[in-house]
Formats: sequence, structure tokens, C-alpha cells
Amino acid sequence: MPPAAILFDLDDTLADRAAALRRYARFFTEDFGAQLLPSLTQTIHATLIEIDDFGSRGQAQTLCAALPWRTPADPDVLFDHWAGRFGEAAVAFDDVESVLQDLQRRGIRMGLVTNGGAAMQRAKIAALGLERYMQTLVISAEVDLRKPDPAIFRHALAQLGCGPSDAWFVGDHPDLDVRGAHAAGLRAFWVRTGAFEAPDDLPGRRLERLSDLLKHLDD
Ligand SMILES: [Mg+2]
Repeated sequence: MPPAAILFDLDDTLADRAAALRRYARFFTEDFGAQLLPSLTQTIHATLIEIDDFGSRGQAQTLCAALPWRTPADPDVLFDHWAGRFGEAAVAFDDVESVLQDLQRRGIRMGLVTNGGAAMQRAKIAALGLERYMQTLVISAEVDLRKPDPAIFRHALAQLGCGPSDAWFVGDHPDLDVRGAHAAGLRAFWVRTGAFEAPDDLPGRRLERLSDLLKHLDD
């Protein structure tokens, strides 16, 4: 039976981080290209992949050191640039739009449960246009709860007016997403879209890609 509601993780479940880094490298070239010695977007992208540390101050300092600047770059400027623009660089995996449309047509309520800062996660949600599909958007920084705390899953379900036994959760992180949602009483799905492997004892189902979720609606 299809569930009444499905909750999703954001990063590396709906949002493709590798694609976002490629797009951010283009923004970076547009904004800093004049300050750099001739340097291809591809070089900047490769550097970003190598040093990716979720926009930390250390990452900004490494970018100052690793790229061929004409004049020394200010790590504070690079830190603020990531904070201001990485969110809008968000890109959805190819099948996200069609899966969410399908679930919406079936009348399944949907929500997002994501760990992260409010401004950054809100910018990603806007870039992906997820407000069209989601009846609730739960961001850890806004509710002072974090996955895997079962309370954050229950909070999202309360917003949807749905109990855990009627709800599914889909995420790429074995502990934060799958074990957390399972502990809260939801049916949990792990999806192989991020950097994590599923350990043998992981509860719930495994999906190769998000669209495989549709195959389980009539289980
Ligand atoms: Mg994730």
C-alpha cells in the first residue's frame, strides 16, 4: 500500500552535490576570474572537489593557497562567497522532478527533513523548486533538532498530520537518515546517491536511485 506521506533528506538524496560543485565553479569563475591568472572553470572545479569541506573557513584558506591568484585572495571574501552562492548552485538529480510529480499526482503528502543552516538549505530548496511539492520543510537549525533524533522526524510528521506507521523516509546516510527514521517508526529507504555504503545490518530497503522508490508503492 502506498504511504500517506513520504519524507526526504535533501543533500545527496534530492540535491546532487557533485553537480552543485560544478555549477558553483562556474559562479566562482564569473566572480573571481578577473583576479585569477588564466584558469579554467574545470581547474577550479577539480580543486573544489579535492578540498570540499562544506564551506568551512579552512576550505576558504585552502582556496586562497591552491588557486593561481594575481594578487593574494582574502579568505573571508571566499568564505562569504560560498555561504552566499553555493545554495543557489544546487542541482537536483535527473529523476527528482518526475518522481515528485508522480507522488504528488497520487496524493501522497511530502516533506523534507534536512540537517544544516537555515539560509543555505533554504537557498538550495529555492534553487530546486521543492516548495511546489513539499507540505513541510524541516531544517535542523530552525527547529533546534537534528537527525538522527527521532523527534525531528516526528516533528515533520506532525506538520503533515500523519503517524509514523503511515510514512516513509528516504535518505542517503545510513545513520542520520535510515537508522534515525527507523527508530522514529517510519519505513526507511536508503538510496545509493551519496558517498555512503549501506552496512549489512541496515534496516529498511535499499534503492539504487530515487526513481526505484516508485516500484515499492504497491508492496
Ligand atoms: Mg544526505
